[in-house]
Amino acid sequence: SVRADLLALTDGAAAALLPDPGRADDKYTGGLVGVAAGSTDYPGAPVLSVGGAVCLRPGMVRYAGAQAKAVVARWPEVVAAESVERAGRVQAWVVGPGMGTDETAAATLRTVLEQDVPVLVDADGLTLLAGHRDWLDRRRAAGQVTVLTPHDREFTRVFGDLDLTDRLDAVRRAAATSGAVVLLKGHRTLVAAPDGTTWVNLTGTPWLASAGSGDVLSGVIGSLLASGLPADRAAALGAHLHGRAGERAERAGRAGAHALWEFLRG
Ligand code: AMP
Ligand code: MG
Repeated sequence: SVRADLLALTDGAAAALLPDPGRADDKYTGGLVGVAAGSTDYPGAPVLSVGGAVCLRPGMVRYAGAQAKAVVARWPEVVAAESVERAGRVQAWVVGPGMGTDETAAATLRTVLEQDVPVLVDADGLTLLAGHRDWLDRRRAAGQVTVLTPHDREFTRVFGDLDLTDRLDAVRRAAATSGAVVLLKGHRTLVAAPDGTTWVNLTGTPWLASAGSGDVLSGVIGSLLASGLPADRAAALGAHLHGRAGERAERAGRAGAHALWEFLRG
């Protein structure tokens, strides 16, 4: 059941929120999203995340990381660089999928979190963040927008003291204490903002409970952040579209998270 203090998107409301380029837009005003992801060990996650971003049709996607060749082979429209410093300016960053947890990855995360644009942290980025909560505190103090997209285990790594028995209470406390918008994944994904605004996602299917689907979600939300949507709405809309894409992929009898790409926009 949907509680009265929870916001939920309908398909109509989701469509109305979805940014559409207008005649006056060009590739720079249509949303520039950066994805810092991947490592020599993990070539797939960055391709999935970049794919999620590309399929939301932003103005441009920039990639930073060790898998530029794999990413550009699948998404030739992406501008790739080997580091965040070389990637240039973007309007929002996604950081974490498949990037590993070594010193190079930690330096990448820190560099991204120093950028004065909205940042979404997922996957290995969350594992690293668990040891560097001060990086979040600094962004909060500077009034910068951060989105965290943990599944249960990642949530516990970052917010170890918060009990997940009451998921709604846990995600609200996480947002309030971290100053970040927190998206807690699962059946009925929850999104909480630091001001207490909370969304429940009503789309999706257990078809999504497979490797890589979360990586696609990170790119989707990154694109929406780059287009200028407020972070809690970007997260809620991303979860809604991702869930519908999963439902369509399942109905089409498709397997694998990469199948989500073609179902992301209607
Ligand atoms: P990750 O764990 O990072 O791969 O992300 C998994 C994605 O699948 C998230 O978007 C979850 O919300 C979604 N998901 C996982 N399990 C379920 C489920 N049982 N029902 C609906 N969505 C799910
Ligand atoms: Mg994941």
